[in-house]
Amino acid sequence: MNLRPPSSGQTGTVYLVGAGPGDPDLLTLRAARLVMQARLIVHDGLVSPEILAMAKPGARLVSVAKARSRHTMAQDAINDLLVSEALAGNDVVRLKGGDPFVFGRGGEEAEACRIAGVAVEVVPGISSALGASAAAQIPLTHRDHASIVSFVAGQCKGLSEQDWSGLAGKGRTLVIFMGLATAAQITEKLIADGLTPDVPVAIIEKATTPAMRVLRCPLAGLADLVESARVASPALIVIGDVAAQPDNTIRTLSSQWGALEAEQ
Ligand code: SAH
Repeated sequence: MNLRPPSSGQTGTVYLVGAGPGDPDLLTLRAARLVMQARLIVHDGLVSPEILAMAKPGARLVSVAKARSRHTMAQDAINDLLVSEALAGNDVVRLKGGDPFVFGRGGEEAEACRIAGVAVEVVPGISSALGASAAAQIPLTHRDHASIVSFVAGQCKGLSEQDWSGLAGKGRTLVIFMGLATAAQITEKLIADGLTPDVPVAIIEKATTPAMRVLRCPLAGLADLVESARVASPALIVIGDVAAQPDNTIRTLSSQWGALEAEQ
């Protein structure tokens, strides 16, 4: 895994590395080693500043953050950057929030590298779905409540045509990524599919960071809560009976390290 010195005349390797959900302690050892050794880190907006601060002095940090309405760098340009740096002999640590292969477009980047003959290594990360559920103490599966879990992308593109029937309901947990802007459509879609309006929902905002919040409501109140609580990205929406855990009372976790406080 050791990164080579530059200008060795060989093509570099692209490391697609999961940075986890935010808390630097949730990096894998392999990810931490790569971040500390890297000369070039190409990172998303979701990678926390604490993790970027682990890079060694003089490392080149390139942000390719994307926003919903403002693409700082299009995916093709990111793929080209990774390939061209590797072909120039540089190892590249491509740092992505969560896990690189869970809604991270890691598959496309790996493919672009393979087509160009560039070696790729994928280093898994703790997906925000897992980091958030742990931090909020919401078990995604539970013998009494859920034995099926689905991860779904809730962003606008193609949402209305997607068949979500059967993804949520009794015995199931639905985890929605990128669903804030479409919360009203998501609610409508699920209720049209037969979900009752009182199914428990938890929104986990900025999971595993000091600014984390956990908000809860019945499904029918989701869009209103997103608006009234001004929930900001990144946030996950968990739908199903487990979302009422840990103890079936409505609570807000204002911070991972803070005390549980009852929500008014
Ligand atoms: N590869 C990432 C997902 C990237 S898609 C992973 O495995 O987690 C981006 C979405 O992930 C965000 O819109 C949000 O829904 C979710 N997300 C990422 N980090 C998060 C965090 N710290 N808290 C809550 N949601 C997060």
